[in-house]
Amino acid sequence: MNTYGLDIWSDNNFIIEKDEVLVNYKSKPSLLNITKKIRSLDVRGPIVLRFPHLIKKQITSLYNSFNYSIEENNYRGDFKAVFPLKVNQLPFVVEAVSNEGRDFSYGLEAGSKAELILAMGKSLANSPITVNGFKDKEMITLAFIAKQSGHDITITIEGLGELKTIIQVAQESNLKIPSIGLRVRLHSTGSGTWAKSSGMDAKFGLTATEILEATKLLRSAKLLDKFTMIHFHIGSQMEDIAPIKRALREAGNIYAELKVLGAQSLNSINIGGGLAVTYAQHSDAKLHNYSIQEFSSCVIFLLGEIMDAKGVKHPNIFTESGRFVVASHSVLITPVLELFTQDYHENLLNLQEKNPPLIDELNELYTHIKPDNCIEYLHDALDHIESLLTLFDLGYINLQDRSNAEILVHNIIKKSLSLTSKINASELKQLQVNLQERYLINASIFQSLPDYWGLKQHFPIMPIHHHTKKAMRAASIWDITCDSDGEIGFDPDKPLYLHDIDITKEDYFLGFFNVGAYQEALGMSHNLFTHPNEYTIKINDNSFEVLNEVESKSTLNILNSIGYDSNELLSKLKTDLQKSSFITEKGKSDTLLKLEIILTQNGYLRTTS
Ligand SMILES: *Cc1c(COP(=O)(O)O)cnc(C)c1O
Repeated sequence: MNTYGLDIWSDNNFIIEKDEVLVNYKSKPSLLNITKKIRSLDVRGPIVLRFPHLIKKQITSLYNSFNYSIEENNYRGDFKAVFPLKVNQLPFVVEAVSNEGRDFSYGLEAGSKAELILAMGKSLANSPITVNGFKDKEMITLAFIAKQSGHDITITIEGLGELKTIIQVAQESNLKIPSIGLRVRLHSTGSGTWAKSSGMDAKFGLTATEILEATKLLRSAKLLDKFTMIHFHIGSQMEDIAPIKRALREAGNIYAELKVLGAQSLNSINIGGGLAVTYAQHSDAKLHNYSIQEFSSCVIFLLGEIMDAKGVKHPNIFTESGRFVVASHSVLITPVLELFTQDYHENLLNLQEKNPPLIDELNELYTHIKPDNCIEYLHDALDHIESLLTLFDLGYINLQDRSNAEILVHNIIKKSLSLTSKINASELKQLQVNLQERYLINASIFQSLPDYWGLKQHFPIMPIHHHTKKAMRAASIWDITCDSDGEIGFDPDKPLYLHDIDITKEDYFLGFFNVGAYQEALGMSHNLFTHPNEYTIKINDNSFEVLNEVESKSTLNILNSIGYDSNELLSKLKTDLQKSSFITEKGKSDTLLKLEIILTQNGYLRTTS
């Protein structure tokens, strides 16, 4: 059975049982049942399902791993963590992060004014807030207000200019002063697609000289007692643990040196985020080479060793991993609207009384193909189709002949692939590319999988049902935007096989997994498709509940959100229809009603039953 790499990427969060994919938790509901329940409320487009228990699982795993390593190594600092809001700022996610992180005092990290306001409004009492990114005087003032209001907040400065502004705000206002962190610029660099956050040419951080200058400034402004943290972040989705170790050694030594130089209040190292998530679904894919347990041991051991060597008290350790915490919690489910090569169905064949000889030959091949002749017949068919297409271009055969030729060849290839496994590998790849089935999904890749569009980040894809049948079709996935980049092409090196389903008779739903990090805020309204309907799924011992529906924007609201006056548009449409003269009054009022219904629904297609 094709398990779509479930054992590689799903961390046991999902399992296949009989022909369905189940959520592997408590009552183990199937994704199909959840989808059906939601569709019974007249929902037809794509849906996003969020599972709070998976957020809890990741937060618990993060804290347990570090706390275990702390105990194992007799480490004498505490472990603290904050959730970086930029990874997913949506209300459900922030709420779930706070709820599930309550026992650990899990905090929030903000990188902009809006995120900082969110952190101030939504963080738990006694949990830390950290602030990164470029800041102006207003943003720094906001951090002072947060401190004044009782938050445990640390502003990490990215440059000396920001530090000077902090000193200025401290002198001008009577507000309490937040803790100050310095982002250090490491010479060691990360690895992976997103590794642009460190190295000597990095966008962020202070050089050794600037760090020394910063401590001088702090000392003379009498703020050295507020300097509590050094921070680094070597990039997202870190695949290799070696650069992490180098960064830890470098940052650990900077910390110890600063302590020796008299930074008395300094008590924490913030190691940023970057813990990787497994997105691969093929066994030969390159995966990140560490587990969360290895990662935490490595951090604790290295920092302990450096501090012991320099006679410095062990620092508290902060992490800001976001992708690791929320990627797995959401699943995008999309109906398949169409399989394009249904157009080549055998019963569309329309042979004439008298056909061109090559077509008769193709028909012979198709009728008599068997396991022991199929490779030879296949090659003949491929040869014939070339000749037939040339004949068409020269005007010797008609459009019906061409249609028959395409149908016959398509079915000969398909049949030979099912009759033999002896086709040589490179020819097979080529045939699969030629014969790939195009699955049209009711979703937008730009909106729901922007990292696929922008970075070719692969996300695990699998059907959520039909698993007792063999999936044979080499598949490419097309979305409903009218942009040719809205496609996940068939890749013979990372093949996706899907089922041959007659969509007019049966539903077919695809799941896209591990989409909970970054995709939502980055999603684009290309073609004016907005976010899908979203639901929280709470799973109990005997059942599941569908909560917190967030509806996709209606067509009118989308137009409003980009600056049109939707009332004006609607009344223009209505007046034009009113003025038309060819229908009855009843016909007009029915049509007006129809128009209004269409405009107050979302823009995804409503084709499937
Ligand atoms: C983006 C970012 C993070 C989160 O990175 P993940 O790869 O999602 O863990 C943490 N810290 C900082 C400073 C960041 O910019």
